[in-house]
Amino acid sequence: MEKMNDLRDLLRHEIQDLYSAEEQIIAAMPKMINKATDRTLTASLSEHLAITQKQKQRLDRVQQLLGEEAQANGSKKKGLLSGLFSKKHTCKAMQGIIEEGNTILAADMSTEVRDAAIIACAQKIEHYEICGYGTARTYARELGMEKVAQLLEETLNEEYEADDKLTSLAVSRINREAESGSRGRARSASEGQMRGERTRE
Ligand code: FE
Ligand code: FE
Ligand code: ZN
Ligand code: FE
Repeated sequence: MEKMNDLRDLLRHEIQDLYSAEEQIIAAMPKMINKATDRTLTASLSEHLAITQKQKQRLDRVQQLLGEEAQANGSKKKGLLSGLFSKKHTCKAMQGIIEEGNTILAADMSTEVRDAAIIACAQKIEHYEICGYGTARTYARELGMEKVAQLLEETLNEEYEADDKLTSLAVSRINREAESGSRGRARSASEGQMRGERTRE
């Protein structure tokens, strides 16, 4: 790991970590989407996958700004720009979250329980991102890098939104369906809502 002397260095590291996390999420989400049955869940995940691709591009912009900032600051560290993003850091935590999710989803389960498990995994992903982006945003603000802070906060808000949507889906329907292990039996409890969902699609 690169030597880190100040908060700037730590911010750069956190950005690399988030970059790796987003790349892993982009690679993992299609499989989760394919395994989901609930149409609203599938749509939410697909929508967030598209947003995630934009978030990765946003991190490219952040890295560019950090590079420019380092140059303008006449950083004394040699080889900074070349060494900065060359050796790729892998977010081991995201690797673990995704691996654990894949293991659970490979188990023999009803489609209702699988949808609940997909939400659980997706929310672990979102929470990790919320922590990472929140911290990085705060570092950028502390360092007076307002544009970087703004970009990170945009993504942070998208992650919060994705997390909230998953919570609503879970508590409004999917957890109950998993509880009875059947969509049919859950229908009596939320018939209007279910019918509403179906006709909209
Ligand atoms: Fe993300
Ligand atoms: Fe990480
Ligand atoms: Zn968290
Ligand atoms: Fe996300």
